[in-house]
Amino acid sequence: MNSAEPETRFVFVTGGVLSGIGKGVTTASLAKLFQFRGYTVRIIKIDPYLNIDPGTLNPIEHGEVFVTDKTWVFVPVPGFEFLISEIDQDFGTYERFTGIEVSPSQNITSGQIYISVILGERRGSFLGRTVQIIPHVTDAIKKRIWEIVDTPPCPDVVLVEIGGTVGDIEAMPFLEAVRQLVLEVGRSRVALVHVTLVPYMKSVGEFKTKPTQHSVRTLQGLGLQPDIIVCRADKELGDAARAKIALFCNVPESRVISNPDIPVTYELPLSFERQGLGKILVEHFQMEHRKPDTGLWERVVSTFQSCTGSIAIAMPGKYTSLSDSYKSINEALRHAGAACGVRVDVRWIDTDDDPDVASLLAPMEGIHGILLTPGFGARGVEGMINAATISLDHGIPFLGICYGAQLGTVAFARKMMGWKDAHTTEVNPHTSHPVVDLLEEQRRTQDKGGTMRLGGQEIRIVEGTRLHELYGEKCTRERFRHRYHLINDYVDKMREKGMVVSAYDSTGRMVNAVEVTDHPFWIGVQYHPEFRSRPGHPHPLYLGFVKAAIQHQKRGGGAS
Ligand code: GLN
Repeated sequence: MNSAEPETRFVFVTGGVLSGIGKGVTTASLAKLFQFRGYTVRIIKIDPYLNIDPGTLNPIEHGEVFVTDKTWVFVPVPGFEFLISEIDQDFGTYERFTGIEVSPSQNITSGQIYISVILGERRGSFLGRTVQIIPHVTDAIKKRIWEIVDTPPCPDVVLVEIGGTVGDIEAMPFLEAVRQLVLEVGRSRVALVHVTLVPYMKSVGEFKTKPTQHSVRTLQGLGLQPDIIVCRADKELGDAARAKIALFCNVPESRVISNPDIPVTYELPLSFERQGLGKILVEHFQMEHRKPDTGLWERVVSTFQSCTGSIAIAMPGKYTSLSDSYKSINEALRHAGAACGVRVDVRWIDTDDDPDVASLLAPMEGIHGILLTPGFGARGVEGMINAATISLDHGIPFLGICYGAQLGTVAFARKMMGWKDAHTTEVNPHTSHPVVDLLEEQRRTQDKGGTMRLGGQEIRIVEGTRLHELYGEKCTRERFRHRYHLINDYVDKMREKGMVVSAYDSTGRMVNAVEVTDHPFWIGVQYHPEFRSRPGHPHPLYLGFVKAAIQHQKRGGGAS
């Protein structure tokens, strides 16, 4: 069935007890262990939900949507096409840890699998047969996995993270597909890693291993015996807990690995390395032993650990309940902070009830920069515009990302141009000053999934602008996810009050970034620079913003 290089190895990562225990970071860290040894990796994430992609999911419930540079046209059967560039936020973690850009095809969802089987049935692919989960759905899953594995250049190791928790009904076909794959490629080419929660009960001073025992038993019942158990816990696992898990779960003690809370998550691969996990994996796969080169990563991690100062960045918006809604932005700020030796404390300011300028001043007390976030819809928008007004009034460094740039421009239009009802037509379709309006191609679009202007695009940076100073280049690529955009004619008029265009698209017609000249730092970008930021390689725009915030701190900070 497969044509992959015979030596491609597979690491399957499953989760037990709870979701949200850091399987993504664990998977990325496992990949890093192979990279330390010069082996090539590729990561697949399986999401068992029925959405075709996570683009339509609520970020409060599900966390951020990650946007790739490459877009992928998913063709379940000829004649049906879905454009995919919006994928699970774990891919942000994978890119940040491994430094490798992913393809959206690496995110497999149940929705994609079922739609190909069902449309295939209508096309006659299964004539005469009863179409069933086993073997038809499981075959479709394996086919997708092999397509990714076989995409050249063939990686040494493919890691597959299976979303959700073992025992979830919707994940069953995927676990069954894994069981079949193990038989096909042979046990020695597969490592099954189970990530589980081991709660520490303070009252009895003991780690509780029973939930882990149960989830491993569920896995065993599906024909999958884990080789390695990674235990999420508040602290390092004690010997007694380790021995108990080993005994009850049928793994050697050395393969019960601690994954304790650590202040810098980028340190996890180093913690795994110290526990011998890299060596265990290489031995398990009978791969050539190579000395791990961890030096570069250690230096990156140490920049996060040795931060001495701290700055506070205000983030006004409505998605404030789950910090994962802006995961890549938070990370990009941290990367830039670490490069400057400061910790970045994000201060969420809830604008749900649209606070006015006066009532925003108190929560802005002592902040050193304002970042206006991406988003959609009318909720909390007036509060966000008011926050941008404060940045103009008080010379506070400002970075607007996508919706944030659009709303920042609305604030400028209202305050500096006196266009009192200026707005985006996303919120007010009847405004007399639609400074932000629907992209022309979007007027014909009805469907909501995968229909925005998505993915990597070339941008042209205008020489002589601050943006150009930060990037040091005239042409680069950035990632987009929007339906609305800044309207040229209005932005042109705003030039007389000090707003200039600092980047266009490759046609030179679409505004991609604006900045205010008479301000310490005020930039709004239509794209999402955060998706390109890496630890050790902060994005120049975030770096510029953080440096400006540090300057503002030196000037006394806040809205004074
Ligand atoms: N809602 C805005 C648009 O569609 C901004 C989107 C975003 O922030 N990603 O253009």
